[in-house]
Amino acid sequence: MKELQPKVLSGRPAAQGIGIGKIWILADDNKPVHPEKIRNKEVRAHLEKYQNAKKIVTDEYEKIKQLPDDFDLGEIIEAQIQTLNDPEVEKLITKKIEKELSSVEYAIFSTYNDYIQLLEAADAKWANERTIDIVSVRDDLIQATKEKKRIFDVQAGEIVFANDISPTAMVKLSHINIGGIVMEKGGFTSHAVILSQSLGIPCVINAHWDRYNITRGNRAIIDGSTGQVILRPTRRQIDEYEKRREDEIGRFQKALEWSQKPDKTKCGSEFKLRANVEFLEELPKLGSHGATGIGLLRTETILFETDDFEVEDQIDFYNNVVESVNNDSVTIRLFDAGGDKLIEGSEGESNPFLGWRGIRMLLDKQNLLKRQLEAIYRVGGIHPGRIKILIPMISRIEEIRTVKKFCSEVQKSLELSGIAYDKNIPIGIMVEVPSIALMAAEAAKEADFFSLGTNDLTQYTLAVDRGNEKIAHLFDSFHPAVWKLIKMTKDAADDAGIPVAVCGEMAGMPEAAACLLGMGINDLSMNSSSIPRVKAVLCKNNLTDMRFLSEKILMAKELLEVHALLDEWRFY
Ligand code: PEP
Ligand code: MG
Repeated sequence: MKELQPKVLSGRPAAQGIGIGKIWILADDNKPVHPEKIRNKEVRAHLEKYQNAKKIVTDEYEKIKQLPDDFDLGEIIEAQIQTLNDPEVEKLITKKIEKELSSVEYAIFSTYNDYIQLLEAADAKWANERTIDIVSVRDDLIQATKEKKRIFDVQAGEIVFANDISPTAMVKLSHINIGGIVMEKGGFTSHAVILSQSLGIPCVINAHWDRYNITRGNRAIIDGSTGQVILRPTRRQIDEYEKRREDEIGRFQKALEWSQKPDKTKCGSEFKLRANVEFLEELPKLGSHGATGIGLLRTETILFETDDFEVEDQIDFYNNVVESVNNDSVTIRLFDAGGDKLIEGSEGESNPFLGWRGIRMLLDKQNLLKRQLEAIYRVGGIHPGRIKILIPMISRIEEIRTVKKFCSEVQKSLELSGIAYDKNIPIGIMVEVPSIALMAAEAAKEADFFSLGTNDLTQYTLAVDRGNEKIAHLFDSFHPAVWKLIKMTKDAADDAGIPVAVCGEMAGMPEAAACLLGMGINDLSMNSSSIPRVKAVLCKNNLTDMRFLSEKILMAKELLEVHALLDEWRFY
């Protein structure tokens, strides 16, 4: 048989690093299942598919139970195993296949949906929690009836090829030391990409691999710096990329030397580089990468692991994080679910990024908000002066006042119960919606600090969905309009005398960091693997040159002009 030749694809570079390994293909996320009739002679095959799927998912859940677990998932998984193997459910599904001639997918879908409807009618917290578990069992089971491989088959070192990866799936993948990620979809600031950067997994997006004949076990090389993906590479190509990988590691090690130097420009002006954090696994490397505390703790990831994140569990989680950064501060962002970070109840929106997201969701789920605030205030009691609260997705001034009202209520109830808490936790807001950047002078009267979320600020200013591959080339945080909004926010913060930081991906690009520092924003938060490179550039240059750069950027009218100005600042 003729051997298939190597094939080189060009995608967009999304997370640095070179991955060389075997290919593993992720099944697509579930789409709604429609009624489908089968023929009598297909009944047996569908019954077998159901039994196989049940076995695959049960084995998977057993595997998850064995994983190191920061979130006490054990009990939930056990309940899911029981739901999966419930004899009543099995009887109904079998009946639907045998008697009603339903396809296995629809038999599973409709049977579990009947249960879900009954529970939803109960309208109680326990019922809500059960619903979430059943939805997840239903979807896992349906996926397992399909031929493609399931997420927990991935082996360490394998390169995951996917159409798209949901944040939930990324959380599962974070437990496996995979060699890289190649996606058809995705935008540079989509959460799958941000997570792969945080976890140091090389990632290429918008690479159209699906049209090529690849199967699990074929080899691939991915280069997260150039966006190249080589399918079925030759031995020579593997040797060449192994050498490149060594060189890249060498360059990073050199940049790492900068990370232990003082946070000062060549002329002695000070700045702070902090880390964006999502997983406990990221904490050990913050010190060696030179982070001064955490400028953005994204907490919504824990909502994907369990919907029932009780106050005590949250306290443990935040406390672990705060204790890991010596005496530095930690900015805890309130749950920012929604958008592409779907949780139960947020599916089905036609424009999720313009929908029930961040503070909008929290103000509807007040118990969730209050529980999170209580946990944060109590951890503040253990570490006074080290925590800040950051509110996501603020688009109106009133929202800030409402959250502050909840903060006062939580403080009052802790006071009454005699529980220690920090009375002086600063409450800041993400400036990531243009309406708030435009109203920054007013917002500065309510907020204790600003943190510019340039990922969302870009998508909302330019009307470019950050996760849509068709318009990924239009997503560019260097657009002059974005720089103008950053400047307006900084000026308003200065007038009001409150601090302003940047925590979007822009802060982690050396050339953008130089310009931000030139504008006077000297508090930058980024995924920790970007810190050494950014620090090298800031330490090697003078503030006057960065000021000059920022003045020119703010006068630029076109994107090309901005890129031309910034290009020479990219190198570290
Ligand atoms: C941002 O929008 O820039 C940001 C930091 O928040 P997230 O990427 O989590 O939406
Ligand atoms: Mg955001």
